[in-house]
Amino acid sequence: MGIEKLIEELRRQDDSFMWERKDRGMLKGIQEGYLRQERWKLVKLVNHIFLEMDLEEKRERVSYFPPKILVEHTNLCNAQCIMCSHFYTDNYGRGFIEEDVIRKLEGILPYVDKVLLHGIGEPFLHPRIQEYIGLYRAYGAEVSCNTNMSVMDEELARCIRDSFQDIVISCDSPRKETFEGIRRKVPYEGFCENVWLLRRICPDLHIRMNVVAMRQNLKELPEIIPFAEKLGVDSVAIMDLTAQKLMGNEWDEIRHYPKTARYYLEKVQEAAAKSRVKLVSLPQHVFHCDSSITMEEEQAQMEQYPLFPDARVQRQLQETYKKLHMVKPLIKASVDNVGEAGRTGCEGICNNFAETPFLSPYGELFACCIDGVHVYGNLKEADSFGDIWNGEAYQAVRRNFYRGKLPKYCNACSFLKGDAMSRLKLTSIDESFYENEFSKLLHSLAEQAKEMGQGQIG
Ligand code: SF4
Ligand code: SF4
Repeated sequence: MGIEKLIEELRRQDDSFMWERKDRGMLKGIQEGYLRQERWKLVKLVNHIFLEMDLEEKRERVSYFPPKILVEHTNLCNAQCIMCSHFYTDNYGRGFIEEDVIRKLEGILPYVDKVLLHGIGEPFLHPRIQEYIGLYRAYGAEVSCNTNMSVMDEELARCIRDSFQDIVISCDSPRKETFEGIRRKVPYEGFCENVWLLRRICPDLHIRMNVVAMRQNLKELPEIIPFAEKLGVDSVAIMDLTAQKLMGNEWDEIRHYPKTARYYLEKVQEAAAKSRVKLVSLPQHVFHCDSSITMEEEQAQMEQYPLFPDARVQRQLQETYKKLHMVKPLIKASVDNVGEAGRTGCEGICNNFAETPFLSPYGELFACCIDGVHVYGNLKEADSFGDIWNGEAYQAVRRNFYRGKLPKYCNACSFLKGDAMSRLKLTSIDESFYENEFSKLLHSLAEQAKEMGQGQIG
């Protein structure tokens, strides 16, 4: 919403609202008044005005707080999907969010419109999740999450009905064999029954299905649309796989089979045109890729490797990961690392970076859900959220975006490949764009482990 519309909405909600445009001090005072009166909706609207002003003026130090925040309530997952780090972490060193983190987070809840419960874990596994959802609701924050839909009952569905307007469910195939081959440990029938239960109890909830497009499911993608319709899903987003060197799954990325990918993605578009299910995202970049071989040759290449990794490979990866004792490689975000510009050009600022930071169960703040490596600060240790939010590292990244340089660590970001950013456009793509920094880091650690004779990656 633009500034004028926000002002209009504020006047509608509070007929005494008067503000001299651009007078930041005055606006801050008005917001503090709303805070004292616990008029959360108005606090949030003023926060949006600050957000729009700061972005318009390309400010490196900002006056707004993030309107959305991803809070990882648990990094445990009961699944081991073949494209996810849970495939090799085996929940090693994982746990639930600490109570201190929730209490520190409470300080910014008046400004926050939406709390997203997930990170790299299944949020509904948290035993106190319904209590926390109630806390966010008390501050007028809407709640949402991504879920694998393996945990659901009537009580949880009613809690969702009272706090959520939308939810994202993960599903990579309409066929049982492929679904369970990719989403290991999530039974296909249980998934379908849980989606039906959720739909029955929450008739107004917008259910979006996220699908990761990869070699394994590429030819089945058009069937996803009628399948989603049968389950009562409202929209489908086809996302791109970002391979991880450690897992050796580079050849699962559909960009290696561009003619085939284009053919099936067009079929998805055709299926969606005939359906009430809305197609909200496709890996658009594939439409700009090409190969020197025919579609038949591409498909022969796709079949060259086994479709699903075998249990031995998975066990080896899990053992290596445990030997590395590497719950997650973390680096303190600084002007030198996150502040480093990549070779891809851009215009604007990443929506996630500007609006949706990521909070780990231990209080570490990351700029987004994609970069799980650079810690901008720890909420438990910082005096305030603002100290991290306006710290040097945050300012350095804002500076790069505003200078038209995509930060290096953003390379291979699946949001960019999906062309899903309304505030950011890529103006030139360098080959380095396709290699993810996180993946490179994990790979180099695994190489070190090999040298130390600690493990063997299959
Ligand atoms: S359900 Fe989600 S978090 Fe869990 S293993 Fe699969 S992709 Fe990863
Ligand atoms: S472009 Fe991707 S990696 Fe970079 S800040 Fe945005 S979401 Fe994160």
